[in-house]
Amino acid sequence: VHELSIVESVIEAVTEAAEKAGARKVTVVTLRVGALAGVVEDALRFSYDIATEDTMLAGSQFVVHALPAVIHCDACNADRELSATLNFSCPICETLSLQLLQGRELEIESFEIEVDGDDSNS
Ligand SMILES: [Zn+2]
Repeated sequence: VHELSIVESVIEAVTEAAEKAGARKVTVVTLRVGALAGVVEDALRFSYDIATEDTMLAGSQFVVHALPAVIHCDACNADRELSATLNFSCPICETLSLQLLQGRELEIESFEIEVDGDDSNS
């Protein structure tokens, strides 16, 4: 499953970084997922719940920060957010654009950890 392999690599990267930071557990993981990244959010969440079992990410909150696709329209000389991702035309003047500025992201935006000996309830 595509989403499961993505989630596994996210867990691997977060675990490595969290261990370096001396974390006991990871509490929140936020991903940036572009509209054109080709993943299904529900499938990501489902895979995350399964794949984080028995890891330091178990029970953590999984946040998906969905990013719309954005093109640059030469005719308008402006950046335009696409409502439909199958149509790479400016929503205002309908000029076709091949300049995709945003939408293919699939990356870890941030994560939060709990460190041993950290008794603060912040
Ligand atoms: Zn335009």
